[in-house]
Amino acid sequence: MQIKKYKKELINAVLLYVILMITGIMYFSYQNHKKIQTFEKNVFTYNSNLLHTAIKMLNQTADIIFLLKINNPEILSIMAEANENSKKRDALRKNLFKKLAPAYKLLKKYGIRQLHFHLVGNISFLRFHKPDKFGDLLHGIRYSVDLVNKTKKILRGFEEGRVFNGFRNIYPLFYHKKFVGTVEISYSIKAIAEILQRNKSNFYGILLNKKIIDKKVWKEHLKNYRRSIINPDYFWDQKALNSIYAKNSEYLKEFEQIEKIIRRNLGNKLFNHHAFIIPFYLKHKYFIAIFHPLQNIEGKFVGYIVSIQKNDFYAQLKKDYILTISIFIIITFFISILFFLFLKQERIIKENLSFYSNHDSLTKLLNRRGFDTSVAALEEIHKRNKLPFSILFIDIDHFKKINDKYGHDIGDKVLSELANILKSNLRKSDLIARWGGEEFIVILANTDKETAEKIAEKLRLAIEQYHQKNLPHFTVSIGIATADKENFNIDNLLKKADEALYAAKKSGRNRVVFKD
Ligand code: GH3
Ligand code: MG
Ligand code: MG
Repeated sequence: MQIKKYKKELINAVLLYVILMITGIMYFSYQNHKKIQTFEKNVFTYNSNLLHTAIKMLNQTADIIFLLKINNPEILSIMAEANENSKKRDALRKNLFKKLAPAYKLLKKYGIRQLHFHLVGNISFLRFHKPDKFGDLLHGIRYSVDLVNKTKKILRGFEEGRVFNGFRNIYPLFYHKKFVGTVEISYSIKAIAEILQRNKSNFYGILLNKKIIDKKVWKEHLKNYRRSIINPDYFWDQKALNSIYAKNSEYLKEFEQIEKIIRRNLGNKLFNHHAFIIPFYLKHKYFIAIFHPLQNIEGKFVGYIVSIQKNDFYAQLKKDYILTISIFIIITFFISILFFLFLKQERIIKENLSFYSNHDSLTKLLNRRGFDTSVAALEEIHKRNKLPFSILFIDIDHFKKINDKYGHDIGDKVLSELANILKSNLRKSDLIARWGGEEFIVILANTDKETAEKIAEKLRLAIEQYHQKNLPHFTVSIGIATADKENFNIDNLLKKADEALYAAKKSGRNRVVFKD
């Protein structure tokens, strides 16, 4: 019932709630988004710094070996001769292998597994990691070596190869200022991972695009790659996986599961070739998988360096977000309820103000002002339709004595009781007003003289017979005037009714008098 009455206020409160909720959720979501952006930016910066530091370390190790063990006349003369004399190449190769075996051992100790000499024109001369594979033309396959043949300058970067992919340093070789070929000192992600995998829960791997593998890798070396569960177009560098498996066997059991979770949360992120993070939850722990896009020396996207680390940022953020939103929902709810109560109160005050500007506060009947407004409309209708109506002037007899004898409060009660008697004995269409003091006025709609007299008498009798505990007995005198076909002037009628009332008082009170 209350709700129905205050529907407008309720709708406004609900509207406020909805607006606050939408604004709040938008604001908190925006904040969340900002936090994620900052976090991801920091994670990418931090991790790529780590990667670059490890790469730099390994490159410097390669440089040192090159400068100390390779870039000397003894080695360079072998290369010079091998270029010129193809018949002696086998012997020269064996000699080179023997001379640099200790250096290669040293490189391997630091995780660098590839030492590869090429003759001028990019012909494989000696692979230390595969000494029985040589003589193949790498022109068009090893872009980096082609480039150094052209520029004759050191070149570094990631490049896929026949046997394995890696981070390569290609050094031009000069003997007596003559270009005699190139040497490559390279390492795989495994070497990087071994530097960075100090923490057991950190994982580093390389995911290569299938196209690269199809194009470059020799069939017999496809075993170096494993198709990922994350996406069939991407292959893991198996060596890096092996190293993580060896280091932390827990990962071995869970790796497929991790891949499946990542696949589920991946969306189409792999296809954008941008850095991204996939958070996931496994065995009561939170992790993030960071995907760093990887470009080769040619500047082409080849895949991702993937790093998996323990991190509960997203979980914490979600927790905070849910908490904030919950608190916000509750606060907003109470604000809206307060707003509703405020609106309701406002309306009650407004309604009261308008009610009491037209009504008497004690009896709740129309006051003089309310009477004037209502009577004008009533008068108009009766004039137009030529219908009679009557006026009753009612005045309590010896009310002063009641006040004097019983006190003002009892006097007030008598007044409101009289109002109730009038209301219960009259029709809805009749106007009842408090004229002032202990005087009341009633306009009986559609009522001629005879009926008005009957009604007035009925009222008088009802009042006379009215008894209530704690209230003194009282009577009224009533003066009547009726508007006929010609006389519709309210002021005239009021005057007549007043005269009739005066006559009633004069003739002994507690009676009804009609005045023509
Ligand atoms: P009569 O029979 O001639 O009408 O005598 P009366 O005493 O009723 O008339 P009079 O006009 O002498 O006195 C009216 C009294 O009504 C005077 C005043 O104190 C009292 N009165 C007027 N307004 C109120 C009111 O709001 N409350 C109370 N308790 N008394 C009121
Ligand atoms: Mg009186
Ligand atoms: Mg009076």
